[in-house]
Amino acid sequence: MKSDIIIIGGGAAGMLAALGAAKRLEESPVGGTVTVLEKQQNIGRKIMITGKGRCNFTNVKGWEEFSAHVRAGVQLLDPAWHSLTPEDVIALLKSNGMQSVVERGDRAFPASHLSGDVVDALRRAVTLAGVKIVSGCKVEAIENVGRFFRLACTQTTVKEFRPRPEPGRKSPAPVRTETTTEQVNYACSRLIIATGGLSYPWTGSDGDGYRFAAGFGIDHTDLSPSLTALVPVGYKDIIKESELRGHIERLNPLSDKGALFNGGKLDNVKLSLYIDGSLSREEFGDIEFTDGGLEGPLGFAVSREAVKALIRGGKVSVSIDLKPAVELEKLDEDIHGRWREIIHDPRSKGAPFKKLFRILLGKLMPWELTLAFLSDNPSVSVDSMASALKGWKMDIEGFVGYERAVVTAGGIGQSEVIPKTLESRRVDGLYFAGEVLDIDADTGGYNLQCAFSTGWLAGQSAAASL
Ligand SMILES: Cc1cc2nc3c(=O)[nH]c(=O)nc-3n(C[C@H](O)[C@H](O)[C@H](O)COP(=O)(O)OP(=O)(O)OC[C@H]3O[C@@H](n4cnc5c(N)ncnc54)[C@H](O)[C@@H]3O)c2cc1C
Repeated sequence: MKSDIIIIGGGAAGMLAALGAAKRLEESPVGGTVTVLEKQQNIGRKIMITGKGRCNFTNVKGWEEFSAHVRAGVQLLDPAWHSLTPEDVIALLKSNGMQSVVERGDRAFPASHLSGDVVDALRRAVTLAGVKIVSGCKVEAIENVGRFFRLACTQTTVKEFRPRPEPGRKSPAPVRTETTTEQVNYACSRLIIATGGLSYPWTGSDGDGYRFAAGFGIDHTDLSPSLTALVPVGYKDIIKESELRGHIERLNPLSDKGALFNGGKLDNVKLSLYIDGSLSREEFGDIEFTDGGLEGPLGFAVSREAVKALIRGGKVSVSIDLKPAVELEKLDEDIHGRWREIIHDPRSKGAPFKKLFRILLGKLMPWELTLAFLSDNPSVSVDSMASALKGWKMDIEGFVGYERAVVTAGGIGQSEVIPKTLESRRVDGLYFAGEVLDIDADTGGYNLQCAFSTGWLAGQSAAASL
């Protein structure tokens, strides 16, 4: 089967690549066909789980501020971002039936707070533009034959058989599904690889793009999970070892210590990351302790550097200041004042010291984390509490890997693609878009915007070169 332009991957980047290409072809006198091959049965599988199902689809900051949140690939992203800005994405979704809201931190969401609305709007946009979407089609191998790319694919078709609904009843659940597979070949003269990275592989992004690139002799920079949980020493009982240094799979159970942390939250704190004893990054905000480890906005913010250091065997630790707005001396005075109140309270009469001490702690930090704090600071006293609260130290022994990392850091970089077109420097007619590229950013809607913008530019460039 032939199509002028084929896009591998029906995620955020692939859909915008298809749209970018189709729109450019509409303006061209010669025209042309655009096809998306997606191995999952549905497009946009990852978009569905973004923003905890609410999809923080972009961030409306201007380029200066936006680019400050891009951790790698700013120069590579620059022309793409300017070809399709956050405002353009909002307008595009609006013209396809989706209203948006902008919340704290310039983060944009669908007004319904349903990620499915973003997928529906994108599907509508590409369908109206005449793009053919083939789902259930996994590209297995690519061959470059003269001016054409030949794609060997496995097409999986799932048929559902439902019993006939009784009059007045809802359609019943399928009783039987039948799956068939067949080998199909596609050919195109322009090929866009938008296969995503390695994170959340069950959504479909499991690294095929890097493999396809390698087949053309195209290198990628070192890959590592980013925006992921960090695992403090002793937080998990490690039952399943990983081959990657520092990787502690999320499914390893919590230890007794980890169970003291799990579910705890710290708001408005300062997190300092130390690598090999030197301060590497400081962030202000919120922390969440989960069954994975230390995460939430601050955990994610320092995870990129921490993971890279752990993989190379570096020593990683964090220090949490629970009272960043209060000077040490002032905090110390406050603690002693509270302690006097507690011990002079008639209700404290006869109560054990341990109990009163935990009451004091509970006035200074979330109660549910007091036992975790005491397990990490067993010799803390009233006199040393201020410094312990301003520097709760944890050594980090590992990180949760691609199974639950929000993005992949690293990928196909500027040495391999031309930023103005996103075409390969080595292979004419071959383009890359989305997370497969060496671009990754903070949480806050930046990553999806990077995928949308690079997708759009790759699509427009591929169509313009036909
Ligand atoms: C849990 C989670 C929450 C997130 N929340 C946000 C958020 O709120 N805001 C934000 O900006 N970013 C968020 N992100 C990041 C963002 O989702 C990604 O950066 C973005 O989706 C990447 O888009 P992509 O199109 O490059 O890749 P993907 O979305 O991964 O799409 C790649 C597609 O290619 C397909 N594919 C792969 N190989 C083949 C093949 N061989 N043949 C055919 N098809 C193939 C895959 O099935 C997949 O559909 C989140 C990520 C995760 C995991």
